[in-house]
Order: sequence, then structure tokens, then C-alpha cells
Amino acid sequence: MKMNREDLKIRLEDIPPEGLEISIEDDGGLVADVYPVLEAIVAELHLTRIGPNVRVRGGLKTTLSVDCDRCLEPFPHKIEEKMFFILMPPPSGEGEEVRLRREDLDVSFFDGEVIDLGLIIREQILLSLPMRNICRESCRGLCPICGANLNQTKCECQREIRHSPFAVLKKLKISS
Ligand SMILES: [Zn+2]
Ligand SMILES: [Zn+2]
Repeated sequence: MKMNREDLKIRLEDIPPEGLEISIEDDGGLVADVYPVLEAIVAELHLTRIGPNVRVRGGLKTTLSVDCDRCLEPFPHKIEEKMFFILMPPPSGEGEEVRLRREDLDVSFFDGEVIDLGLIIREQILLSLPMRNICRESCRGLCPICGANLNQTKCECQREIRHSPFAVLKKLKISS
């Protein structure tokens, strides 16, 4: 099911003293602008008030379709993340300048009254992705000459140059 982003906003005053259990299932809307979602985003969260702060505990899982950085083919990337952090309200009496800077940093998860769980889950998913997405350790990538996907086909290009660190030197000698 598709969650309405507004449903994922929790008011501080709606969290009872014993805490609030929240189950979320979202078929992709939360990150759909960045990655196609293959398995719905499921999150189980427990919110507890600690004075003006809110402790968020739980976890989320989903499977996204991510493009391999070597062969450029999409592949399923499974995500399973534990979540544990404290949300603190913005310091009171801060100037306009500080407030603007906070908005730049996209830290508007919690303004002291409303917690944006949709935004929190989205950030957790995006932050969990590695710097480089590789479909598998043995991915052979694309031929740098003809662009063929070397996982699927062999090409006739001469690529020995890439395999030996001395090949480049040899080549320099020949051409000089
Ligand atoms: Zn690949
Ligand atoms: Zn080639």
C-alpha cells in the first residue's frame, strides 16, 4: 500500500508515556524518486519521549533496484538496517541564519512538535547504500573500448594493456 507522507508525521503529544509502536509498510513512495523499490519498505519503530527529546528504536528492510557501477545493469540490493537515535528539538531562540542553515542540511526530522518519520526512513535507506554499488564481486564490467557488457559477452578488443602494470611502460617505449 502507498502511505501518505502526511500519515508518517507523528506529533510529540501523541506519544503516550509508555511509548508508541509504529508499523510502516510503503511500496516505494518514500524513495521512488531515487530508486525503484522491488520489495516494500517495512519499518517497525518504537518512539519514546525523553523530556523534550524522542528516542527512535527499531529497524527497516526493503529491496531496491540499484544500478551496478561496473556493468551499469540494475540488480536487487537488499537493505536491512537497525535504527537507534535520539531526536532533539532545535535549540530555542536560534537566529534566522541558524535556522536556514539547518534547513540546508535537511535535518528537519523533528521541529520540537512533529516528527517526520517518512523523511527519517528515507534518509536511513539512502545513507545505508555503499559508495559504490557492485552487482557481484566477480562483475567484469564493461569493455572500455567497445562498451560490451563482459558478464554477458566476450568482445574482440585488445585489453591486455589493463592487466599488466608494465604494459603501459612497454607501450610508451614503442611509441617513442
Ligand atoms: Zn555489475
Ligand atoms: Zn570490447
